Amino acid sequence: MLWLRLRLGLATVALAALFLPLLAATHLYASKPNSKIARNVLESKTEGYCSPSGPIEATNCAYETIETLNKDLFPALDSLVREPFFRHYKVDLYKECPFWRENGLCMNRACGVETIDEADVPEKWRSAALSAVVTTDMNEGVNGCYFRDDDFCFIEDDATPEGQYIDLIENPERFTGYAGDSAHNVWRAIYQENCFGLSESVIAAARDGKLAPGRSRPAMGLNPLQAGHAPQDADLCEEKKLYYRLISGMHASISIHIAADYLNQTTGEWGPNLDCFVSRVASYPDRLSNVYFNAVLLLRAVSRAAPYFRAYDIGITPRGREDECTRAQRAADARTRTAFDGVLTLAEGLAKGFDEEQFFAGADGPVLIEQFKGAFRNVSAIMDCVGCDKCRLWGKLQVSGFGTALKILFALQDKDLDPRVNPNLLQRSEVVALYNTLHRVTESLHAVDEFRQIYARTQKEEAEAAPKRAAKRAAERDARRRAERERELGPRIRAAVAAVLEAVRRHCRDCVKAVKGLLGGSAPKGEL
Ligand SMILES: Cc1cc2nc3c(=O)[nH]c(=O)nc-3n(C[C@H](O)[C@H](O)[C@H](O)COP(=O)(O)OP(=O)(O)OC[C@H]3O[C@@H](n4cnc5c(N)ncnc54)[C@H](O)[C@@H]3O)c2cc1C
Repeated sequence: MLWLRLRLGLATVALAALFLPLLAATHLYASKPNSKIARNVLESKTEGYCSPSGPIEATNCAYETIETLNKDLFPALDSLVREPFFRHYKVDLYKECPFWRENGLCMNRACGVETIDEADVPEKWRSAALSAVVTTDMNEGVNGCYFRDDDFCFIEDDATPEGQYIDLIENPERFTGYAGDSAHNVWRAIYQENCFGLSESVIAAARDGKLAPGRSRPAMGLNPLQAGHAPQDADLCEEKKLYYRLISGMHASISIHIAADYLNQTTGEWGPNLDCFVSRVASYPDRLSNVYFNAVLLLRAVSRAAPYFRAYDIGITPRGREDECTRAQRAADARTRTAFDGVLTLAEGLAKGFDEEQFFAGADGPVLIEQFKGAFRNVSAIMDCVGCDKCRLWGKLQVSGFGTALKILFALQDKDLDPRVNPNLLQRSEVVALYNTLHRVTESLHAVDEFRQIYARTQKEEAEAAPKRAAKRAAERDARRRAERERELGPRIRAAVAAVLEAVRRHCRDCVKAVKGLLGGSAPKGEL
């Protein structure tokens, strides 16, 4: 059974209010954007600031490498995430916002999420089956969420009765119309979590054991970064820049998905909106660059944990049963496994595109990493404040995906990633979140490529149409001039003809007589 959870309320009125400001932005760009930077992004030029060429900052990887890899990686992931293991995600979408009063009334139809019954989820991932798996050392965080010391975010636990099952393929991330104060408050809060940094008192407190790892509120007020303000300060520590890049890249990827699958409120059709892409992403190449950065970081996490993933059970076949049904399931599992291995091999091909050892390495490392975890866990709790179910779903999933990647990169040793030593290291929800997040990023890069093609097409059409338009304009101008000339000359010609006729009438009476004489008759009266 499908359970459609739509919070409609005053839907019609609110929908109109929500959409009206957007009405103006639903057309494709017919001409070049004013910004040279945006043109640079769209035309893939190698000149200028931060164009997508050369090394991606803070990585050992070039933009071109990622773009080439993505030609294989995106289709491989796109089919992998359609497999049962990766498309079924359990998440609690209806927790209260723990930080401020959020009315949570999502009145937009596009914000609705379709959930599925537990009975439609393969048996071995249902909570009853999973609750048998014991999880250890869990700490309680905000909002009744739990985490282990290694975790960078609160994990959605498949084994608990809370939460809804979602088929991710049926609920694509795209334009929902969610905007305004609610969305801005969430983004602002997320960027402001980047207030961690080291003060002597924080380090001292950590040394004295007064700062409980993972429980700390970040040291507020230390040089916060804000939305839209890329870190320029050379003194900012690399970890702080890492946080900003990660969040900004996720934000940009969400914006790209909004632009790539946009609702044209005039025609009611979904499709790409180049205008939206230009104004939100292409005009800010640092945002786009952060999407590439996220691709490199996620791929490194996937390749570092590849031996663990190769042993991970991603099949739907129930353990310990052998019949016709399980034989068919096993064949399907083998196909999923081949697709999964293909993605792992592609990720491993990037070598060490991101070097995790460069971060949290100094004397301050242990304290910084705890602060970073605290901040990131807060971001996962902030997701409960997103006032649109669909946005919250994808927001939670992506924060969890990045949290899993950070855990693999910064909290685990190589030996921890041995599947024989640590078979329960990652929960199913973490694996699903990681691969779907990587899919989001590769889909964004694919969409950027499509926007470049759309832009190139509009420019070509523009160039082809230009001579015809110029000829039409010239013909119209000529016609206008002719009409004007006629308007001006007409009365003058009529006056001149009348004057000639009058002159003839006055001065040529004798001519009339002469003609009459010649004809031997008399001219009729009033003939001239
Ligand atoms: C977690 C989350 C998920 C969302 N998911 C969706 C969704 O699936 N579909 C949907 O239609 N809407 C979604 N939204 C809403 C969407 O992100 C925007 O907030 C909304 O479209 C309004 O956009 P805006 O142009 O006002 O700027 P916003 O995107 O809200 O940005 C606010 C400010 O942040 C800065 N900024 C913007 N992008 C970046 C960046 N990449 N890096 C650094 N700074 C930046 C700018 O200064 C901007 O003015 C989501 C919001 C959140 C918080």
